[in-house]
Amino acid sequence: MIGVYQQKGLDFFDIVQEALLRHLNAESKSAGFFAIPAEVFNPLRNQYESSMIIRRIAQEKSAEYTYAAGIVDVDIYTHGMNFIFGMADPIRKTALVSIHRLIGDRLNERVTKEIVHEVGHLMGLGHCRKPHCVMYFSNTLIDTDNKDPDLCIECRREIE
Ligand SMILES: [Zn+2]
Ligand SMILES: [Zn+2]
Repeated sequence: MIGVYQQKGLDFFDIVQEALLRHLNAESKSAGFFAIPAEVFNPLRNQYESSMIIRRIAQEKSAEYTYAAGIVDVDIYTHGMNFIFGMADPIRKTALVSIHRLIGDRLNERVTKEIVHEVGHLMGLGHCRKPHCVMYFSNTLIDTDNKDPDLCIECRREIE
């Protein structure tokens, strides 16, 4: 069971639940809402540091959940990257997706692909070289829009 933790005010549980069930065959529950701590904001970049948000969600994570999946709407980054769509921390068993750079007509489809990708990492999958596989690394939204929400046959085999 995956616990879905959303930043206060967001309402993406139905999309995330459907995404995880349909594409990873994983059940999930809405596990709660959290506020992003002020110290996570980096005023020099006008962005939020993703691993600190992951730590915050991991603190919330109840033991009943194998994994936690977090959704936020702030612009996130990690060391060495201008921005990221999401991040996974397999040690904390916690994944994070930000909708900030996914906004547009295809928002729901993009959230679906990014949460499947990050939870795929929690399940042990690495990046895939096939551009249509959901485990392909998205550098830009074009990459995200190009890929399918599903794992390719090889990636699927790895988690079965
Ligand atoms: Zn990735
Ligand atoms: Zn693949």
